[in-house]
Amino acid sequence: MVDYVGVERVRELVGRLGPARFMRELAAEIEADFGRWESFDKSARHAVHSPVGVIELMPISDGRLYSFKYVNGHPSNTAEGLLTVTAFGVLAEVATGYPLLLAELTLTTALRTAAMSALAARRMARPDSRCMALIGNGAQSEFQAIAFHDQLGIRELRLFDVDAGATAKLQRNLAGMDLEGLTVIACRSTAEAVSGADIVTTVTADKRNATILTAGMIEAGMHLNGVGGDCPGKTELEREILLRPDTRVVVEYAPQSRIEGEVQQVPADFPVIEFSELVAGRATARRSDAEVTLFDSVGFALEDFSALRYLHRLNGAQPGPRGGIDLIPELANPKDLYGLLRPGLAVRKVAA
Ligand code: NAD
Repeated sequence: MVDYVGVERVRELVGRLGPARFMRELAAEIEADFGRWESFDKSARHAVHSPVGVIELMPISDGRLYSFKYVNGHPSNTAEGLLTVTAFGVLAEVATGYPLLLAELTLTTALRTAAMSALAARRMARPDSRCMALIGNGAQSEFQAIAFHDQLGIRELRLFDVDAGATAKLQRNLAGMDLEGLTVIACRSTAEAVSGADIVTTVTADKRNATILTAGMIEAGMHLNGVGGDCPGKTELEREILLRPDTRVVVEYAPQSRIEGEVQQVPADFPVIEFSELVAGRATARRSDAEVTLFDSVGFALEDFSALRYLHRLNGAQPGPRGGIDLIPELANPKDLYGLLRPGLAVRKVAA
């Protein structure tokens, strides 16, 4: 049996730890993996585009374990009552090629994306940052809010979404969480939300070169956490923000980010810092309180590798039913695969 962690099990595991602790522990896993960057066999993800969205495959390996994630991005899905982003993935053993885990990665992607955003902000934002603007209040937004409250000490959240219903949903959910000392303010525009903020998170979904943030909104010392621009032709920041002489841009994996990130808007030799350089101590993102830092997040396979390994370990360590799925035949004689088809042989189904 291959271990199976579905939506219900992830709900249970996150419920047991609490989402803040889950994302804190996951951030530590991700950071440790970025710390051994050279161990990974890396590639930009494989994307299949359509007029309404994208379907991507994200493989990576450290020579011992291999993982891939299947993920889609369809901004118009919510109008049909469907999620914009869904995902699942596999963790496998390189030595045998056998899968160890099949897991849901929709909830987990939201958790790992927010964990990565907070991890980057801890190395990039001004340490005294307390106020964050959160533009785009859809599926990812609560996760970003919780991680930044917990890991950065954000105490004021300023929300904006073109859909007032999404903002009301986020406000309701945050109110139900009892996050210590957190003030939440719904704003009437992006400009109002961003004005005076220390950190600006953009996590909108729109399949075009949107201009969520314009250069005129950016103030000295801000940290920008650009999450929603993650495909060719799908960006959130006005190009002039990147071109400011005091903007310092950090990406996950430059070959992928130059295709998909905000940096697709600038020439291929535009200077970027890879996050692994920060972790290795070879580069510093912020050199002064006045500089503007941008984490140009697109989501890299390494973060899902860390998340799948973390889920696998947590699933084994925490009480509760451990699911399995009969994905791979179990044979007394591995050369007798046909034997499985002999009448009367019971094949095990998904275990409870
Ligand atoms: P969602 O559809 O649930 O929410 C997106 C929200 O953005 C919606 O509420 C929508 O009304 C709002 N929005 C759209 N245009 C806007 C505008 N001009 N101003 C303000 N708000 C606007 O989607 P989601 O699951 O929350 O994902 C958000 C984005 O994050 C997507 O683009 C997705 O592809 C991206 N994403 C990135 C990563 C990463 O690792 N970088 C991971 C997951 C998702």
